[in-house]
Amino acid sequence: MAIVELDPLVREFTAKERPMLIGGEWVPAMSGNTFETYDPSTGEVLAHVAEGDKADIDRAVKAARRAFDEGPWGKLTPSERGRLVHRIGDLIMEHADELATLETLDNGKPFAVAKAADIPLSADLFWYMSGWATKLDGRTTEPHVPYKPGSEWHAYTRREPVGVVGQIIPWNFPLLMAAWKLGPALSCGNAVVLKPAEQTPLSVLRLGELILEAGIPPGVVNIVPGYGETAGAALAAHPDVDKVAFTGSTEVGKLIVEAAAGNLKKVSLELGGKSPNIVFPDADMEKAIPGAAMATFFNHGQCCIAGTRLFVQKSAFDDVVAGVADHAKSLKVGPGMAEDTDMGPLVSKEQFERVTAYLQKGATEGARAVAGGRALERPGYFVEPTLLVDTEPDMSIWREEIFGPVLAATPFDDLDELARQANDTPYGLGAGVWTQDISKAHKLAKLLKAGTVYVNTYNIFPAEMPFGGYKESGWGREMGPEVLESYTETKSVICEL
Ligand code: NAP
Ligand code: MG
Repeated sequence: MAIVELDPLVREFTAKERPMLIGGEWVPAMSGNTFETYDPSTGEVLAHVAEGDKADIDRAVKAARRAFDEGPWGKLTPSERGRLVHRIGDLIMEHADELATLETLDNGKPFAVAKAADIPLSADLFWYMSGWATKLDGRTTEPHVPYKPGSEWHAYTRREPVGVVGQIIPWNFPLLMAAWKLGPALSCGNAVVLKPAEQTPLSVLRLGELILEAGIPPGVVNIVPGYGETAGAALAAHPDVDKVAFTGSTEVGKLIVEAAAGNLKKVSLELGGKSPNIVFPDADMEKAIPGAAMATFFNHGQCCIAGTRLFVQKSAFDDVVAGVADHAKSLKVGPGMAEDTDMGPLVSKEQFERVTAYLQKGATEGARAVAGGRALERPGYFVEPTLLVDTEPDMSIWREEIFGPVLAATPFDDLDELARQANDTPYGLGAGVWTQDISKAHKLAKLLKAGTVYVNTYNIFPAEMPFGGYKESGWGREMGPEVLESYTETKSVICEL
């Protein structure tokens, strides 16, 4: 088990108590409190981080307000703003090894995956969004006013930033989720207070340093690590915050909506899922079998869009299940910093207990594990990649988001029934279809109630495409041009000539 060399900069970063970023300064919490973040491959303390609460959120919102209302930020040309956002992407790539190491140590994911996926996707999101700064055009029109005959009019719309945005992100892709939130917010000219997840604050705090280095003015980006119930709740409820953007559980998403009601701030939500992944016998099985496995096992199943309900047409069921089970068994589970690791530990003790409780529940309910099914007997939060069969539609492992490497499979035979079964969930984030019949693929793409439908692929997150959910999977879309809607206000200007 060769261990990837630890970047000395990372050792230095984790050795010191990490302060929070407010108004361009790195400061301790007003309370002086800190919390611990852990390495999930050992369960040992990795670093101590300033614990922000309501008072710090208040200070950060004031700094953001000042930066938005009075600072140089609003006076930059869109081109200047876009170039600063682009520079953040450049700096991420210049520090790719360091950021990938921090991500691996704090979250548990394999270093090779962080380096190949999380880091370049984060940079690319800033690069993509930077181009929109100069393209936030309005439209002009000649309205008619029926009760003013003969009058002449000129009207146009303007796209303006929403103002101060609160952003609350989860721990599954710490840096990438920060990028999804910050990229569009900054390109549209907003100021931000960002709360990273308590489990994984480190890469986001390092990103804060790079954001200052890129030349984003002080106070435009404030980062307040802390707990959801204190710092997160204060941010969602704050009367001076104009919008809150949240990614995480559907349960907390509902709390965010309630908290936002005080000043009716805008809300965008990217929540959970229990996505169907459908394999037809005519699929290219060389792709479909590993594809079906990794639709769940990628990022250890800690993906909101994970394809965790596998539907296979009856005639191919046994072969696909055998293939996916073999694939699961072939995955090397180990510490993220080991070179041969395919799957790291779950992010935290809490998630480990949650996922193993589902494995227990699945067994009690009568589901059968044909791969995995247990935790690894070693320190750290390791769970075997698991494939369950003999599932029933009312089982908790079939209905509820597990957020771990647990895939459940069922056969289907009736194509007409398939869409109904696939859509039988309160969620609607993603879906997958594996077939070589393009007509069938597009018909299903239309029938599936999901924000993203993958055909012959899964877990692809290009900056150009919108991402978000139907039903209880959320409100609004991230990425693509669609995200600009949620970070701008549209103003109508109407002139009588
Ligand atoms: P979570 O509680 O929804 O956490 C997401 C973010 O919300 C974190 O920054 C969290 O802070 C914050 N938060 C928690 N309670 C809050 C509140 N009352 N007000 C404002 N912010 C609050 O998710 P989790 O507990 O880490 O994971 C639980 C389950 O959520 C997972 O098993 C999974 O099913 C789902 N989940 C979904 C996604 C996704 O991408 N859709 C991501 C993560 C988790 P703290 O970290 O300090 O609690
Ligand atoms: Mg951690």
